Amino acid sequence: MILTVTMNPSVDIFYPIDGFELDDVNRVEMVRKTAGGKGLNVARVVAQMEEEVLATGVLGGTIGDYIIQELTKCNIQNNFLKINQESRNCIAVLHDGMQTEILEAGPTLSYAEGAAFLEKFANLLTSVTIVIISGSLPKGLPNNFYQKMVEISREKNIPVVVDSAGEPLRQVLLHQVKPFAIKPNTAELSHMLGMKVDADIDSLKRAVNHELLTGIEWIVVSMGSEGAFVKHADNYYRVTIPQIDVVNPVGSGDATVAGLAVALKHDQTVETLLKTAMTTGMLNTMEAGTGYINFTKFKQLFDTVKVEIID
Ligand code: ATP
Repeated sequence: MILTVTMNPSVDIFYPIDGFELDDVNRVEMVRKTAGGKGLNVARVVAQMEEEVLATGVLGGTIGDYIIQELTKCNIQNNFLKINQESRNCIAVLHDGMQTEILEAGPTLSYAEGAAFLEKFANLLTSVTIVIISGSLPKGLPNNFYQKMVEISREKNIPVVVDSAGEPLRQVLLHQVKPFAIKPNTAELSHMLGMKVDADIDSLKRAVNHELLTGIEWIVVSMGSEGAFVKHADNYYRVTIPQIDVVNPVGSGDATVAGLAVALKHDQTVETLLKTAMTTGMLNTMEAGTGYINFTKFKQLFDTVKVEIID
């Protein structure tokens, strides 16, 4: 079973409004609502790959109830810490080819709620083979919260994939107990390391050899339509993908993490693992929904991905 962690989930609401007017009444005919947050995107893609997945994190209120209903509809088992505060809504107004977003901050957690979640997390580890921690931390939790989760997982020998950013990720990387895998894009890598990183191989090699990343088994640097650059077991890989018709690229990173985790769980070869991760990323770009793939197209696309080991 794959465990996904989403500490600040949301209901993502999409309002398509042509001719959006500021300071006026805007009516919406078709509203789309999904359970959101990066970890839930990962969970959905894992479920669409017909793999068992358990979603955890923290939620509350009627918005929390809605999230659970949505997960259950998608065959995603879930076991969240319930809190008294309401989970958040995140609104995207799609207007005239643009997207204006209104993102609620979500609840502020107490020390006791943080401690209660860590206890739940440790208990859930008895039934999982791999953990994926995605997204940002809610207010109130210390920046070393993800680092603690990585440490708890290591004590139970469970590999962790961390896909986060900012100080919570830095705290993970600064600690001697490293995550098993990370999947930054080049902008996140630049920010994390405080150095310029672009698609040039020398620049990518310099980045993945930074001392902060020492000891991480898999460093998958995703590069959108350019595929990925990867460091694993002192080898470098360049993964290239075909040009495809992109409908909505948002959530491709999460879909890539889902593919990576499923392949890790099945102990796939390096080539199969990287092709799987790229394929799920690409499949996400081909759908309108965020964190959605059409798994029936997997095999065909998988065969188009090229993995090359480089010096
Ligand atoms: P997000 O933050 O939207 O989840 P990300 O920046 O973390 O995305 P990307 O590097 O943009 O992740 O994309 C992850 C993977 O998805 C890529 O490595 C690739 O396989 C696929 N992908 C993303 N964008 C495209 C695109 N325009 N064309 C083809 N494949 C894409």
